[in-house]
Amino acid sequence: MIPVIAIHGGAGTITRADLSAETERDYHAALDRVLQGGQRVLEQGGDALDAVTEAVFRLEECPLFNAGKGAVFTHAGTHELDASIMDGRTLGAGAVACVKTLRNPILAARRVMEDGRHVLLVGEGAEAFARAAGLETVPNDYYFTEARYVQWRRALAEGRAGLLDHDAQALAAQPEPIDADTKMGTVGAVALDARGNLAAATSTGGVTDKRAGRVGDSPLIGAGCYANNRTVAVSCTGSGETFIRLLAAHDVSALMEYRGLPLAEACDRVVMEKLPAIGGRGGLIAVDAQGSVHMPFNTEGMYRGSARAGGSRLTAIYRNAKDEGRG
Ligand code: ASP
Repeated sequence: MIPVIAIHGGAGTITRADLSAETERDYHAALDRVLQGGQRVLEQGGDALDAVTEAVFRLEECPLFNAGKGAVFTHAGTHELDASIMDGRTLGAGAVACVKTLRNPILAARRVMEDGRHVLLVGEGAEAFARAAGLETVPNDYYFTEARYVQWRRALAEGRAGLLDHDAQALAAQPEPIDADTKMGTVGAVALDARGNLAAATSTGGVTDKRAGRVGDSPLIGAGCYANNRTVAVSCTGSGETFIRLLAAHDVSALMEYRGLPLAEACDRVVMEKLPAIGGRGGLIAVDAQGSVHMPFNTEGMYRGSARAGGSRLTAIYRNAKDEGRG
């Protein structure tokens, strides 16, 4: 079994017209650094769980992505973060939602899983749990970035609540008001290790200008994150409410387990057919128990990448794979 990791940094209206060559290079470089971290864990014989934790930790630390530092703004002008992790070997899972002071929500989700008593902790209870576990806390304005602030002000001015991060980014870049349906930036990772174990992790600031207290698909096991050694590990990004209604991540696993669909067919059924049928936009990354990787999306672009242990690292942004970077 050759270990493999795949990552995403969100889907949405990501077009060449909106990204300067320099920004595009920054994204490729950031994705490559993240992949490298996860790949190294796997090459050193580490668990899939540690590889996805490392990758999502790095994505949270990178202000380019809507998770940890760089999280989007709520309607109230604050930041509320969600994260989850799942171990395909045991079906153990942990998640936190609506946290406002944890530097790395993914580490809190992992602690919740390891603690084993609960699966999902929210708000102040989640923060108290993480503090007691010794995790780092930050003031809410730690997550601030100028780019997300501009996105939010623009969304506010146009009355566009609940925008996907990269959609809001495109909106902020437009000189004139644009139509309502353009633009998303959650992060995630899936991995298979040398022992055949699968794991998935997802982390987000949610959608721009969301209502305070809104929870998306990212911290909900089965919706934005799922892993089962028998089938697949999945991490999603997109319009969270539709992923929740479809239980999108688990649906991929169910199509494989109950219908016997191969990985790519199961993923495409969910992303290209079932989600659009209810107005769902976004994508997912998935790795199956044999190490196949599939990363479909129904938007213009999705920040993504994958790497096998000992292999080269591939990063991509747009639909056309010509933009691929190699590390
Ligand atoms: N799925 C995330 C949410 O709804 C947003 C995203 O993927 O950008 O919170």
